[in-house]
Amino acid sequence: MSKLAEYLNQHILGNVFDSPLIRETYSTDRSILKMTPRLVALPETTNDIRKLLRFSSQLASRDFKLPVTVRGTGLDKTGASIGSGLIISTEKLNHIEEIDVRGRLVRVQPGITLGALNEALRLQGMCLPIVYDPRATIGGLIANCPNDDASERYGGIFRFVDRLEVVLASGDIVQLSPQSLRSVEAKIASTLPEGELYRKIEHIIDESADTILDCGMRPLDLAGYRGIAQVRSSHSLNLLPLMFGSQGTLAVISDVILHVETLPPDPERMMVSFHDLKAAQRFLNFVRDLEPFLLKVYDLRIIEAAAERGKKPDLFTRKLGKGLLVIVSFDYRRSRNRKKFEQCLTILPPNTFSVLESPENGAAFDSLYNSLLSYLNDDGRGEHAPIMDDVFVPSMHFGDFLDGLKELEDELRVDLPIFGSFATSSYNVRPRFDCTSIDGRKQIINFLKRYSQLVLDCQGSLTGNGPEGQVKALMAPRTLGVGERQLYSNIKEAFDPLGILNPHVKLGADIKNIIRHIRTTEKGGIITP
Ligand SMILES: Cc1cc2nc3c(=O)[nH]c(=O)nc-3n(C[C@H](O)[C@H](O)[C@H](O)COP(=O)(O)OP(=O)(O)OC[C@H]3O[C@@H](n4cnc5c(N)ncnc54)[C@H](O)[C@@H]3O)c2cc1C
Repeated sequence: MSKLAEYLNQHILGNVFDSPLIRETYSTDRSILKMTPRLVALPETTNDIRKLLRFSSQLASRDFKLPVTVRGTGLDKTGASIGSGLIISTEKLNHIEEIDVRGRLVRVQPGITLGALNEALRLQGMCLPIVYDPRATIGGLIANCPNDDASERYGGIFRFVDRLEVVLASGDIVQLSPQSLRSVEAKIASTLPEGELYRKIEHIIDESADTILDCGMRPLDLAGYRGIAQVRSSHSLNLLPLMFGSQGTLAVISDVILHVETLPPDPERMMVSFHDLKAAQRFLNFVRDLEPFLLKVYDLRIIEAAAERGKKPDLFTRKLGKGLLVIVSFDYRRSRNRKKFEQCLTILPPNTFSVLESPENGAAFDSLYNSLLSYLNDDGRGEHAPIMDDVFVPSMHFGDFLDGLKELEDELRVDLPIFGSFATSSYNVRPRFDCTSIDGRKQIINFLKRYSQLVLDCQGSLTGNGPEGQVKALMAPRTLGVGERQLYSNIKEAFDPLGILNPHVKLGADIKNIIRHIRTTEKGGIITP
């Protein structure tokens, strides 16, 4: 065992590993990148996290870099949960510490998964209404702040975090919640590390008032630290918004208090397939105004491809052909759902194929999701890897986006069937490239450029539904102005002056480093949702 691992093992309750097998296990997330860490730590207490960070800071102050990447489940699609230094996995910090049923509050450790939390809350008639991969951790959800499929209806993780405890790069703990101006004054006057942080952030806000105002006027985007626009109000200061989308670059979340909701009725679903894309768009716009729980779209080629591989949902009685499949669901009371479905039916053109959920066909609806999994999995010719997922395209430009994709398919000679959520304007395409060849890797970079341009031409954003990590950061210089970059770099410096927390992510992402780390083995971790 290396000297570093041995030293850390003597000082923390959890474990630090350096075996090649364990390092390999943590060398990938769900992105197209691979970086093998030097060490992997599984802390068991907040104190362990503090000691690990303090150790890394002490090394950095002596010019020895051991960058730290905190990691939940590792589902990140932008290369933000991998790193070459020390991985701190929160998998053992997975407890629910308190549930306050009356106040509808829950206190959890950062490594608890969404699925485990919702299972426990369900027993109390409550839930965290986030429709997302149940394996994602609460720490990872906050640090990535993705738009989940139901965020248009319930507001997303952003709306549910009440307060956070974080460990700074120095190893010091800070509580993040709204502070009255008087309490901020007291903090600023103190000599504690927290005082230093508040002093720096206040200074940044005063110095960059115009840039921050400008950030606040634009639609929410998770590149950089756009949460700065929500930090100061007329009567309080709250550093918490900075953690949304921070991707482990500012501090490590060690404790979370969440608001939760009472459990809504089970959602009911309807499926419609369209061959006429204009009719599909009219329908989608109409349904969005009915405030659905989910409003998902899939290119019918995805369902066809899955059917060829044996996954044919019973819902389809005829050949699908080209077009879009739309799935709508509502989670109101049954009678209200029925009324909304009836409204949906009124605007369908004659002969449109639609199926309403019933007790008999519920399982077939579930199997539609498996069709997508089947399509995404490796079919022997290459992975359907997420190169640039979760882009934001405003609904008014959805049609232009579909047209642009068609042109891109012809130009690049790849299939780009779309899937995503119209309710949250979040879309994915998964072209298949061969990562094993230099040519294939060049194609990936070319695709990144051309696809990003298409999204921007449609007034969209690459980071509207999730932050830039490493992969999307390649294209970020096109969207972030000089003043904004300087502002974000000052915020990073205030939290992490020695640059030890995920330094290769967000502002620190570097094209050469990224290209060097593109996975070169086709099957280096098959990527499924
Ligand atoms: C179907 C599907 C859809 C998805 N859609 C989106 C999307 O729209 N937008 C999007 O951004 N992602 C999306 N993802 C990727 C991913 O699932 C989410 O980002 C999720 O939040 C990651 O949770 P995790 O526990 O796997 O976090 P990880 O991948 O382990 O970590 C994610 C980021 O959070 C940081 N982090 C983790 N824990 C902490 C902590 N305790 N303190 C501080 N930082 C921490 C990591 O350093 C990393 O930067 C999607 C994934 C799936 C499967």
